[in-house]
Order: sequence, then structure tokens, then C-alpha cells
Amino acid sequence: MDVRAVLPAIAVGWSILSAGLFGGERGHAAEALSVIDAVGAGRHVAALADDALEGREGGSRGGRAAGAYIVETLRNAGLRPAGDEGTYYQRFGTMRNILALVPGSDPACERELVVVGAHYDHVGYGTAANSYGPTGLIHNGADDNASGVAGVLEIAEVLQAMPAKPRRPVLLAFWDGEEKGLLGSWHFVRVRPQPLRELRPVFAVNLDMIGRLRGDRVEVYGGRTMTGLRRILAEANRETGLELVIDWDIVDDSDHFPFIESRVPTVMLHTGLHDEYHRPSDDVQLVNTAGVEAVARLALGVVTAVADRPGTLAGFRDASRQEKNAHRDALERVVPAGPVAARVRWGMSTRSDAGDPSAPVVVRVVPDSPLDLAGLRCGDRIIAIDGEPIANQAAMLERMAKAGDALMLTLERVGRIVEIDVSGGGAPVASGRDQDAAPPPAAEPAPARGP
Ligand SMILES: [Zn+2]
Repeated sequence: MDVRAVLPAIAVGWSILSAGLFGGERGHAAEALSVIDAVGAGRHVAALADDALEGREGGSRGGRAAGAYIVETLRNAGLRPAGDEGTYYQRFGTMRNILALVPGSDPACERELVVVGAHYDHVGYGTAANSYGPTGLIHNGADDNASGVAGVLEIAEVLQAMPAKPRRPVLLAFWDGEEKGLLGSWHFVRVRPQPLRELRPVFAVNLDMIGRLRGDRVEVYGGRTMTGLRRILAEANRETGLELVIDWDIVDDSDHFPFIESRVPTVMLHTGLHDEYHRPSDDVQLVNTAGVEAVARLALGVVTAVADRPGTLAGFRDASRQEKNAHRDALERVVPAGPVAARVRWGMSTRSDAGDPSAPVVVRVVPDSPLDLAGLRCGDRIIAIDGEPIANQAAMLERMAKAGDALMLTLERVGRIVEIDVSGGGAPVASGRDQDAAPPPAAEPAPARGP
């Protein structure tokens, strides 16, 4: 992660896959999944965060050695080079991105490129501009970002082992020069090497600092850059069961940013900052390798879900560029319970999310109502009733009004899909106030604008 954009936030400090993915209609071999494991991830982190690589500064001797390790791993796995002149390298100045391609299996979308990447450079011996010190010592960057590289290498090996490839081509990308200002990813979105000239990036995943999973909490950036992305994340998270915190702010602190600036829907997964961030003490023994494995599985789930998605992808959601966490907080703000109506039926209020109309947010749960007793919480998002996805809030309200005295709700709760059985709904009432839509948030997200 690029320190310049993160500096103001550092004081905050501590702040595979579902059965449906490889099972289901495509029948991919689940055994390919066993390729992702914590031991393999840990081996990659240890190799890249070794003192011998001298902190992997872009353009340095250690940076080149790190690149050689990645290339050797890709070659041993049998991946196809996608760089310049038959190599894995895309050179720019003294630096090199590393690119490998898994071709798609469906001619109808063989030019729609899904990218999964991580930067492999770090800050070398550190300077006053990029290190919290002490400088002059090797900064191994085990979390930042040997962890993300390990994740992408594991994903590459799984994709290569899958007997049936995803419909769309998948690019495995290892960016150089991220710590110097996202140089490698900026170069890629402007210049594509020959093997990728005819391909157009339609979706990207960025793994940056996934080595410090604590309490299953994963930060997700860019989760609103494509309609329906939140649902894709939750579905991909069925097996891993991580806590996904969607951050609405989009900052130029990592390689997701050039893609978003290029209007490519992109998510970044990140396990959070820590006291060793951009210090020589960001070392391998502090990396949670089981966490790297879990985040890599989640990322693989998202990549394969998008790469296999039928029809046309939704495209970039321009409004996401204006949305901030303040808008999220306004959207999710809880409505005070107030005096409880005598004739509550189900017992909730929701608010519609313009960025995700098919998942209204619960902002009020009436104490002791059927939904309260069934375990509904404020902040949950309603995504299906009796197994059928809802189209929008109005349709949800109508279906709940027409329901008998029991129903099954499917919720998304911090990235996890939860089903609750609700009973005791009783007979419909003429004008129940309990399940009304809540007033819109005070601070509406700015209207969509073009770039
Ligand atoms: Zn960094």
C-alpha cells in the first residue's frame, strides 16, 4: 500500500469457495481448490519477505530477484506468459510488471478480461518519505505486500489446475512500483502488452496487505463500483464466512485506483493497518497464513463468479466515485424505535439503497416483534423472501404484506448470508406502520455523473 495516501489514517492503527462455484452447473473439480492452502501461501510469503530480497524496491536488485521468483513460480505451474515478446514481463523504465493469462473458455466473451493482481514491490531500506522508521534497515514487507502476491500465486495455481476454465480470460498480475505512486498499475491501464491488445479489462480484484487477518475482519474497497457486486462478494464468502466491511471511500492508496479511474469495476481486499506498517518489523512471523488462504479463497470466488457470469457484465457504476462513508452511515442510520404501535405485524423498517436496490437495509426492529424474535438486526440487508430474490424495497413490502403468518428471510449481515425463519406474522393489518420504508437518509449520495 502506498504510504503517501495512507499517512493521515495511520494514527487509527488497529483500527473456496461455495459449493455453487465449482459444483453446480459447471461441475468444476473441487480438488483444484485444495491447491490453495496456508502452507503454500506461507512459503511464498517467506520467500518474498526474505532479507535476500532487500525489501523489493522497484528497479532494485532485490526487486528483480522478487520478480524472478514470481516468474519461476508461474512457469512451474504452466501459466501462459502475457508480457512483452513472449515473456512474463511488461517493462516500464527500470521496473517490470509480471503478467500471466488463463484464456477464457467461451468465444462470446473471450475479449473481456478479468484481472486479479497484487503489487510485489516494497520500500527497500526505507526513506523518510516512505517509512515510519527506522530507515536504513531492510523493510521486508511481509504483509505489504508479499501476502497479496502469495494470494495471487495461489489463485494462479488453482486456475491452472481447474479442468474447465472460466468463460472469460483471467489475468494474473503482479505490479511493480506501487510504493512509488502506483506506477505499474497506472502503466498497465494505459499500455497493454501485445498478447492483451485485443482484450478489454471488465473487472479487477486487488489484493494489498491480506496477511493480518484479525477476528475474520476484511476491509473491502470499491464494493459499489458495479451493481450487484455486494451480492457476488457475499455468495463467494459462503464457505470462508469472513466479516466483510464495505468501505465506500475510494482513495489512491493502492492498485485498485488506476482501474477505478479507468471506469473498470474493481474491489480491493485488505486486512487492515497495524503498528508494523512500513517499518522493518513487517516480518513473516507476524503473518496469519491461514488468513492469507481465506482471503485468497474469497478472491478466487469473486474472480470465478465474475469470469463465469452469463450475459453482459453490469459495467462501472459512476455514482460510486462520489460516495463516501458518510453516505453509508446516513443510509444505515437507525430509526429510533419510538412508541410501539399496538398492531405490529412483522416489525421492521428498511431504507432503500440507490446503489443496491435489491438489498434494502434494516434500520429499525420493533422489540418483541416476530422479526425481533427471529433474530433480525439493524444493518442487515434483506435479499430474498422464501428463497426468491427481491427486486426492490417496494416489491419486498408488497410480498411481506401478502405473506401468511410465516416466511423465511435471507439476509446479508457483514458479508455473510444468513437465513431466518419468521413466524407469528399473524393476519395482515389494514395499515401497519411497522414495515414501512424509512425516510431517505439526510445526506443523499450525490447524483451520478460522468467522468
Ligand atoms: Zn505499502
